[in-house]
Amino acid sequence: MNEKIDVFIINTEDPFLGDVLGCDIRIIDPQATVADLMDALDGFAADHLADCKGCDGCCQERAPLLSADVPALARMLPCDTAWPAHAVVASFGLLRIDDGVSDVMLRRDADGVCAQLDLENRCCTIWPQRPFVCRSHFCLPRSFLLEQLRQDIANLGLNELTRLLLAEEANGAPPLDGVWLSERLKGDDYQPNAFSGKSDYHDILLKDCVDLELWKELCSERKGC
Ligand code: SF4
Ligand code: SF4
Repeated sequence: MNEKIDVFIINTEDPFLGDVLGCDIRIIDPQATVADLMDALDGFAADHLADCKGCDGCCQERAPLLSADVPALARMLPCDTAWPAHAVVASFGLLRIDDGVSDVMLRRDADGVCAQLDLENRCCTIWPQRPFVCRSHFCLPRSFLLEQLRQDIANLGLNELTRLLLAEEANGAPPLDGVWLSERLKGDDYQPNAFSGKSDYHDILLKDCVDLELWKELCSERKGC
């Protein structure tokens, strides 16, 4: 059990299934980090859920890549590079730019399944290094608060990854998939945030990822069932 974050079972409502069990969290220690969140969710899954190593049940949904996912994925690459964000996106990612907004996600095959999924054995081939979005998902509905926290973290990390890609391009990185990001994006739209300068999820405080209202709710006394 993670001492900084409590993850517990709740009764909730699923739009398709009706009343079901789900999970919620309460932040106990204001110094809790994104790494604590992943650790607490891992512990909860180990205690309450069937073993999961990835499958085509959810490994075919959009999974954004975040800046703090880059170091672990970069260590899997065959050689060092001066532009790790570019190298990771080129190897594992898919870049889309629509209306001046970038999206970077895990690459998927023609059927929409994550390229890192071993379909025959139904398991993730990069399980220990899988990105935050994969690590914070499991087969149980999440409370509104937990989902909001997860989305806020993902949005910040994705924005920071775009900022890193622009910075690497300014330092000489080649175009990604033939696209010069600086020609399609406005650098001012990607300002530093809680992920900036942090390459490790242990260094990113949850309280820096959310607004005050959500933070108070995440820390408020709530009970599971
Ligand atoms: S969480 Fe996703 S990958 Fe894991 S068992 Fe459920 S559907 Fe499959
Ligand atoms: S990285 Fe692994 S866990 Fe994440 S979507 Fe791909 S196969 Fe699934």
